[in-house]
Amino acid sequence: MIPFLDFKQLNAELRDELIAACARVIDSGWYINGPEVEAFEAEFARYCGVAHCIGVANGLDALVLVLRAWLQMGRLREGDEVIVPSNTFVASVLAVSQNRLTPVLVEPDPRSFNLCPQRLEQALSDRTRVVLPVHLYGQLADMPRIADWARRHGLLVLEDAAQAHGARLGGRSAGAWGDAAGFSFYPGKNLGAIGDAGAVVTDDQDLADVLAALRNYGSREKYHNERLGVNSRLDEIQAAMLRVKLRALDRSIEQRRAIAQVYGSRIRNPLIELPVLAMDEPESHVWHLYVVRTADRDGLQRHLAQAGVGSLVHYPVPPHRQQAYAGAFRDRYPLSEHLHDTVLSLPLGPYLSLAQIDAVVDACNSYR
Ligand SMILES: *Cc1c(COP(=O)(O)O)cnc(C)c1O
Repeated sequence: MIPFLDFKQLNAELRDELIAACARVIDSGWYINGPEVEAFEAEFARYCGVAHCIGVANGLDALVLVLRAWLQMGRLREGDEVIVPSNTFVASVLAVSQNRLTPVLVEPDPRSFNLCPQRLEQALSDRTRVVLPVHLYGQLADMPRIADWARRHGLLVLEDAAQAHGARLGGRSAGAWGDAAGFSFYPGKNLGAIGDAGAVVTDDQDLADVLAALRNYGSREKYHNERLGVNSRLDEIQAAMLRVKLRALDRSIEQRRAIAQVYGSRIRNPLIELPVLAMDEPESHVWHLYVVRTADRDGLQRHLAQAGVGSLVHYPVPPHRQQAYAGAFRDRYPLSEHLHDTVLSLPLGPYLSLAQIDAVVDACNSYR
């Protein structure tokens, strides 16, 4: 069986380096907000091409805390509207509702699965303050147009870059397009820790200062609390793991691109629709997920399983259909619902062998 994702394999090649880094932290006796976090923040900010990185406990908190910081800074008020794609992982929407802001869902471009710039105008109201594009499956949303539109309307842009570490367009990275961006380093993400971790990146010095306090009880000087904060810190151990993983990130992205290229050129089945590069730019996609579409998705998933190929659905239920949001959204989002009914993610670990890649291709091609 080829599992959809093998977490152990993701870290196998770097195992010795990760263990050495772990030992270094244990022996240092400094476990919270120390030199590893500081070094990772500098390294990841440089990687993204931005001025500041603020490590936090996970990707959801990264998004939540940016919006909370903007509320505390007076840039947003409770009830303000945030434009979010209707087909995304629920965290993008939770970040908005957790701050008592109002998520306004916008349907995707069906080719890219990402926020459709043409549909932004109809979502605009006099309460709109933020656009929150998600670089879904690792493909950069159409940021030139989204950011330009937001600027013309005086809106803030918060990128959900949880799936898109290292995606670039015209040399500009995911995370460097908005006023701020949230990253997740959940173990299965392209840059994954050995546990939960996340970060905000931004060029905004004021926002970075507020976040540095917010994540640590609202305090930058021990026992002096300047604002109402939370405990959402990035651990020294995870920062040390991430420094090792970051050095290998570009290579693993290249491996993912090579596998996606093989799938794209060798899966030939009229029943299976393959993902596309919406902006014709290979660098704009880091292939966190390789998502195909087919009418009878469950049938394809069963066929693949019989052929020994694991697969997953990202995601089976769109946010507006989640029980937690029952009654929260009046509109219907048929495009998003259709995507959720027809998508299937193939195995795409950078560690896949040529034989395993062949097996995935053959299993797709033998589906009837
Ligand atoms: C993973 C993910 C998150 C949340 O990250 P966590 O670290 O799991 O909290 C947010 N948005 C998207 C699009 C994600 O894929």
